Amino acid sequence: MKDSILLEGGYDMSENPFENAQKQLDIAAEKLNLDSAIHQKLREPMRIFEFDIPVKMDSGEEKTFKGFRVQYNDARGPCKGGIRYHPDETIDTVKALAAWMTWKTAVVGIPYGGGKGGIICNPKEMSQGEIERLSRGFMRAIADKIGPMVDIPAPDVYTTPQIMAWMMDEYEKIVGHKCPAIITGKPLELGGSEGRSDATAQGVIYTIIDAAKNLGIDLKGAKVVVQGYGNAGYYVATKMHELGAIIIGVSDSKGGIFNEEGFCPFKAFDFKKENGTVVGFSDTKEITNAELLELECDILVPAALENQITKENADKIKAKIVAEAANGPTTPEADEILYKKGVFMIPDFLCNAGGVTVSYFEWVQNIYGYYWTREEVLEKLEKIMIKAFADVLSMSKISDVDMRTAAYMVAVKRVADAMKLRGWV
Ligand code: GLU
Repeated sequence: MKDSILLEGGYDMSENPFENAQKQLDIAAEKLNLDSAIHQKLREPMRIFEFDIPVKMDSGEEKTFKGFRVQYNDARGPCKGGIRYHPDETIDTVKALAAWMTWKTAVVGIPYGGGKGGIICNPKEMSQGEIERLSRGFMRAIADKIGPMVDIPAPDVYTTPQIMAWMMDEYEKIVGHKCPAIITGKPLELGGSEGRSDATAQGVIYTIIDAAKNLGIDLKGAKVVVQGYGNAGYYVATKMHELGAIIIGVSDSKGGIFNEEGFCPFKAFDFKKENGTVVGFSDTKEITNAELLELECDILVPAALENQITKENADKIKAKIVAEAANGPTTPEADEILYKKGVFMIPDFLCNAGGVTVSYFEWVQNIYGYYWTREEVLEKLEKIMIKAFADVLSMSKISDVDMRTAAYMVAVKRVADAMKLRGWV
């Protein structure tokens, strides 16, 4: 199972994800009565790197790609966050994702700040050799800006363990010694961690179990819809199926499929591997991605890209729980509508924090030089996710706010406290 089949989709270009990230922060800052100097600092990244990456294409032609790395905040520890390869990448998507990483590492209480990288490219149209040269070029451009105690990249949309291996190799050539802790999400053979490949989905599952318990929903027989059938979406669907839930709809960039009685998510995946899409899978009806989001179900899992639930469709969402496996799938206006409708939101940087948490375990194992079993990894992951969910739920009850604002309040307070202790403000 490769990250590289992650769903691509359309961004809603009318929404700027970074402005949305700032709006979300502003809401929490007001509730927290946050010191205005801290608030202003947290509204913008600490450092932004933007660079050209020249790549020799297979045709012999030299092509230049645009790369970004944003180090948003490192008060709580080195910056941490993935690198995305996407044709629609912009500096604002990377800034938003870097901000969300800052809140993500804080909400689960791991000793990192937040960062993110991206390259404007379409890896689907590139050969493996071209992707390798692009990835090595990216690493050469940022090698002197990162480090195991400075900024640690990882995979994200369309970047794979293989890409992490090339990047680590390039970094080690530059510094002249082995350094597995420079990057996470590596293949197991090169210092990756057990449990990393399905860690995001596993974390999503722990939060869904907690949310269902809180709402008194039995997961056996619960109807589940998953938007996106890549690394996160596929594993969430199959894990929910194993828990006895019924998968009634899934989608990828080409469209969605639906069967009210449910279908086998493993078989749908095999079908996608052969045909490049889930569309056409037996005994299912083809639907659009928009129709998929509006299906009658208990749990909706957006596992694709930003800006999928907006003020245009929020009112039509019928799920009881929205579990955001993707980063930024719901806009602030949509959040308000969903909250008023009584939809229980598990916000992205809490819901999908399992990936970075196991990245943290990978980094610890690399530094320690001693490796854990999958059972040890899962046991530690479960504890962290359960505590993070409980912290956010209790904040939402104490402060009478929605779950996203509560998650922000927990995370922002931790970052703000670290900044104060460092004497930055
Ligand atoms: N890209 C993942 C995320 O958005 C993982 C980041 C990491 O492992 O550093 O959380």
